Amino acid sequence: MSVMNNPVQLHDVSVLQKMSDHEQVLFCNDKHTGLQAIIAIHDTTLGPALGGCRMHPYRTVDEALTDALRLAEGMTYKCAAADVDFGGGKAVIIGDPAQDKSPALFRAFGQFVESLGGRFITGTDMGTTMDDFVQAMKETHHIVGVPEAYGGGGDSSVPTAQGILYGLMATNHMLFGQDDLNQATYAVQGLGKVGSKVVRGLLESGAHVVVSDVVTDRATRLQTETAHLPGTIDVVADNDIYRLQTDIFVPCALGGVINDQTIDQLRVKAVAGSANNQLATDDHGKQLAERGILYAPDYIINSGGLIQVADELYGANKDRVLLKTKNIYNMMRDVYEQAEKDHISTVEAANRICEDVLASRAKQNSFYTRSIRPKWNLTRTRS
Ligand code: NAD
Repeated sequence: MSVMNNPVQLHDVSVLQKMSDHEQVLFCNDKHTGLQAIIAIHDTTLGPALGGCRMHPYRTVDEALTDALRLAEGMTYKCAAADVDFGGGKAVIIGDPAQDKSPALFRAFGQFVESLGGRFITGTDMGTTMDDFVQAMKETHHIVGVPEAYGGGGDSSVPTAQGILYGLMATNHMLFGQDDLNQATYAVQGLGKVGSKVVRGLLESGAHVVVSDVVTDRATRLQTETAHLPGTIDVVADNDIYRLQTDIFVPCALGGVINDQTIDQLRVKAVAGSANNQLATDDHGKQLAERGILYAPDYIINSGGLIQVADELYGANKDRVLLKTKNIYNMMRDVYEQAEKDHISTVEAANRICEDVLASRAKQNSFYTRSIRPKWNLTRTRS
């Protein structure tokens, strides 16, 4: 496992302050498998905490803790925006996904999840796969995002990409007064599971799309595979994607892409894509607004995958997921209109909408203690 150079001292007041907004933080150590993980539960006003488990070779425990806390808080807002009955949580495993994985490690992680009695439900994130959670499922029912053969909803990038297309329709409506996707031009960064599906959807509508991926083969292959679709597609090097004069920049790769280096290069009317944490800081949201660039808050437009995994807990149902994913269009319209009306950034508008949901639900619920007993517990395969 990774060497931790700078372990957190738990009597360190700054660490306790850092965790003070969160309901519960669990440090997990299993000396037999080498598991070192942190589970952060931010807020269970809406229901048990739901959030993926990331595996990353963090250099210090402090770095891992900071990531877990930040991501867990983000999930609280994402769940409130998506109108699902779950709160915000996230787990991080300290380790290199290429070297440190073993079935036993994920089974040990599953035991820690089980110890929370249903207050935390998890699944894949960066660095972890559905197969890892098939192992964790042997120790706990509180797992989502597993293959359909195990009672899960399957590939969550499908509803995520659908949600992005609905969000782009709302963005078009705000920019041009109509939803049609083919009236705008797009620059799509990242052609992985989500980006490639978004590009196909845009090309099917007849739009013009410029794409980039650090793996250039991926871009040229997609260009060949989509040649029969009505839209047109050009490929550029990744560094050129920021300064293109298209209508909408669609980041579908890494987070932090709207930053001090890139913001002045943008020539677009809007930024709306799937990447998590697109803004390097919240201030970059304000800077986009000052430049007259409409920004689609990532945690709302990319919530299709969350909608699917939340739905899985009641028995996977693709029609129900699609119906709810369509609502991303309305959510995006609300955020844009609220921001315009109140002269605030779209980030502030989205946060306000979520905080209102949390405040109104806090009057009904409080701290979540019951163990969830979803329907699939009765039917799901358990080895
Ligand atoms: P992925 O790993 O399948 O694809 C990412 C793609 O981006 C890869 O093709 C990679 O080569 C490319 N890439 C990486 N760095 C790049 C760069 N600097 N410039 C251009 N291309 C680059 O990931 P994904 O599942 O498609 O997710 C994409 C983004 O959407 C991530 O930020 C993810 O957190 C977010 N997201 C995904 C889902 C989901 O359901 N998969 C849900 C919500 C949010």
